[in-house]
Amino acid sequence: MSRKPLVSGNWKMHHTHLDAIAFVQKLAFSLDAEDHRRTDVSLHPAFTALRSVQTVLDADRIPVALGAQDVHWEQKGAFTGEISPLMLAKLNVSYVIVGHSERRQYFGETDETVSKKVRAVLAAGMTPIICVGENEEQREAGGAEDLVVGQLEAALRSVAPEAVASLVVAYEPIWAIGTGRTATPDDAQAMAAALRAAVVADHGSEAGAGVRIQYGGSVNPDNVADMLGGPDVDGALVGGASLDAEVFARLITQLRPG
Ligand code: PEP
Repeated sequence: MSRKPLVSGNWKMHHTHLDAIAFVQKLAFSLDAEDHRRTDVSLHPAFTALRSVQTVLDADRIPVALGAQDVHWEQKGAFTGEISPLMLAKLNVSYVIVGHSERRQYFGETDETVSKKVRAVLAAGMTPIICVGENEEQREAGGAEDLVVGQLEAALRSVAPEAVASLVVAYEPIWAIGTGRTATPDDAQAMAAALRAAVVADHGSEAGAGVRIQYGGSVNPDNVADMLGGPDVDGALVGGASLDAEVFARLITQLRPG
């Protein structure tokens, strides 16, 4: 099965809704139909910019998917400050990042809350991008693969195989996020292959063949083609290099053949 790569721009806590509108218009101008045919692109603005980005994407029929950076697992309720899957789905959000290492590190996200969020996102008809990854200590101790596979298995507990086939996993070694240090393409491929093998073992071969596995961690226009070179690496989750429309567009156009 051939999987279409997905390149996702995670803006984190950057860009007002006005910056976001200008960004989307510039990005749309820089990509052509062939880029969109070859590569799926999603943008993950802050919650405050979702509606503005959705309006521009819809009005100008720009084939870029809208994404969110996080979500709560309940559809509604007394959860001050939270955003529900239902609210995101109503805004035509397609992808929701779940379990980003910054959420795990600074905001108490656990394997258990990640698992609840994954199921809630799927129930609302959206696609989770499930982030997994090891820190430097864990890598040096030699337990990275078991840890990362364990994170994914916890996230996918009680998810139906058909749903697993259509979701996205982002392998993001924490020591490579925002640091300018990347894993090698071989490391990214090896971890993606291990994650896919775990999906096959737990959820069947169709799920393993369908799930898309992104690499994330200091991806930029100069390294993206190499980082996505392995057969099991199906795209990139991009932080810093997604903040400037010209740089992000250049990163996506690096995936043109030849
Ligand atoms: C990220 O935020 O998921 C990320 C990979 O960031 P960066 O590209 O800046 O390392």
